[in-house]
Amino acid sequence: MVKKYLITGGSGFIGCHLCETLVRQGQQVVAIDDLSTGALENIQRLREASNFQFVRETIRNAQVLDRLSSQADVIIHLAAAVGVKLIVEDPVHTINTNVMGTEAVLATANRYGCKVLIASSSEVYGKGASVPFHEDDDCLIGPTTHSRWAYATSKAVDEFLGLAYYRQFGLPVVVMRFFNTIGLRQTGQYGMVVPRFVRQALRGEPLQVYGDGEQTRCFADVADVVSAIVQLSDHPQAVGQVFNIGSTEEITIRGLAERIIALTGSRSNIQHLPYDQAYAPGFEDMRRRVPSIDKIKDLIGYQAGCSLDESLLKVIEFERSRL
Ligand code: UDP
Repeated sequence: MVKKYLITGGSGFIGCHLCETLVRQGQQVVAIDDLSTGALENIQRLREASNFQFVRETIRNAQVLDRLSSQADVIIHLAAAVGVKLIVEDPVHTINTNVMGTEAVLATANRYGCKVLIASSSEVYGKGASVPFHEDDDCLIGPTTHSRWAYATSKAVDEFLGLAYYRQFGLPVVVMRFFNTIGLRQTGQYGMVVPRFVRQALRGEPLQVYGDGEQTRCFADVADVVSAIVQLSDHPQAVGQVFNIGSTEEITIRGLAERIIALTGSRSNIQHLPYDQAYAPGFEDMRRRVPSIDKIKDLIGYQAGCSLDESLLKVIEFERSRL
């Protein structure tokens, strides 16, 4: 059955891949994006499709959001302030966009009974040290004096809001906690490590590893993440629940830099930069970040279709073609 999807942040990194998949499936797709961090070129090829429409507007425009929601069955809410760099540099914008934006989407969806999938983040686990992170683990957020935690807190508020709309009004809400996601068209402009390292390696510049490089992450391919989103949006038992979405292939950031140098055949070396210089004084990073994906595996049979090396090679090929 053809469904009508409204994708907020539809021209962002995950948004544009999601729009492509849904359009390919023959669904009716409307993307709304204010292009603050999204880019028109991400959705350029889609604009000719008769089942795709792009609206350049902020989700804070209540009239437009109301009109688009009234025509949607499912809203996938990806619009948010993204990137640790941006978040540290502009905390007011981060809090406003993430909290007020999500409240606007939920209140409007509630008027029309749309299903809403909310994009949250592994940041909500904060400084939690018992990896892998399970959805019902405690959230250990750092002090309010550090801007980084404003992002984690804003996403936690989004989750509380979404689950509150579900419990209080019966609005069908699903919360998705994305872990690090990589793929074509992700920009390094807002701090994401993989596109930054790949560009540095291809240009023969030093790869800048922040801190000692022993911190770890798991990088999921955007194709796997998008497939999980689509399946969750279709599954009735996902409603009212929180799901981790990510890869379990763990790598240190120094190991990632070495892998990218090897895969690109670059002559670049690795340079360590203290966190204080990379971000802001007192910056706190997560030492390990690994999701438990048992819950999403049980519900939709989620598993990674792409290894880290395969994903990195795709990103390298893409970045090479753009240089
Ligand atoms: N990082 C790095 N060099 C960069 C960008 C990021 O060493 O140019 C590190 C960052 O400090 C973190 C990890 O790579 O430990 C992942 O950073 P990213 O911003 O991609 O995602 P995060 O997991 O922090 O949200």
